[in-house]
Amino acid sequence: TEPLVRVKSLSKHYEVSRQGLLEEKQYVRAVDDISFEIGQGETFGLVGESGCGKSTTGQMLVHLLQHTKGNIYFGERNITDIPKKAMKSLRQELQIVFQDPYSSLNPKKQIGWLLEEPLIIHKIGDKTTRQKMVAEVLEQVGLDPSYLKRYPHELSGGQRQRVGIASALVLNPRFIVIDEAVSALDVSVQSQILNLLKELQQKRGLTYLFISHDLNVVQYMSDRVGVMYLGKIVEIFDVESGAEPLHPYTRALFSAIPNVKGERKERVLLKGDVPNPIHPPKGCTFHPRCPFAMEKCKQEAPILQPHDSSHHVSCHL
Ligand code: SF4
Ligand code: MG
Repeated sequence: TEPLVRVKSLSKHYEVSRQGLLEEKQYVRAVDDISFEIGQGETFGLVGESGCGKSTTGQMLVHLLQHTKGNIYFGERNITDIPKKAMKSLRQELQIVFQDPYSSLNPKKQIGWLLEEPLIIHKIGDKTTRQKMVAEVLEQVGLDPSYLKRYPHELSGGQRQRVGIASALVLNPRFIVIDEAVSALDVSVQSQILNLLKELQQKRGLTYLFISHDLNVVQYMSDRVGVMYLGKIVEIFDVESGAEPLHPYTRALFSAIPNVKGERKERVLLKGDVPNPIHPPKGCTFHPRCPFAMEKCKQEAPILQPHDSSHHVSCHL
């Protein structure tokens, strides 16, 4: 399939001030030169420990966060530096669902109003049309019309996330970033929401960037997965084809969970914690924790290279 979203050498660097020391500028490379594509109708998963740059990436893709370098394409269009006005119409196409919809839902407004507001902002339809659209989207996320009159605090976590999804859907977008959307929910509710997202994707031909620290969830949802470590993508592989992950970091993440057959892979244990991103290790940034690190790994940074047509790995091994 044609790629809908293409990310080329995208970076986000933050300047950090260090007080009391020499006037020396320092940067955190929250996202460091990453590239990937998401096919039309595909779910691309991004997984990694907290602080690895997953959410930063997602927010740059939907223009909630300014990038530092690189390019983002939506279809044929380079949307990296589009002006505010053009962004407003593009906003209809690019949406995001967050972990906690409660914080983004105005507590003083009824659900019906909250869902209609984006339509008003984008000057879509008259009152009757808008109410019809709101009723439709509410039904699609599995909530009956009585919810139109309810307030966010009257809803359970799962119901609030359904409203969060509905408000992303009401503008009829083509691409949605889903950032830890089920992380705050009970396991049984999680699977309901995940299945709802899959169903909506099928019905509406949606393309997803699915972000989570939870490998089980990412594997369940994604066609392909990108693994992030300290702002870099260290591996991209196809879940559908059952490809075995090759990067030592991915294997460590995967060996912690049982596979579909319930077998546990041989445990790959990681040494230590994620290093300070202000002073990332030289060479392969994973080398202090890697059980397979060689001399070369301390000097030379590996680059993401094709292993086969659908599998890319960044490792000297
Ligand atoms: Fe480990 Fe070296 Fe591969 Fe980095 S490049 S993951 S340190 S083996
Ligand atoms: Mg995050």
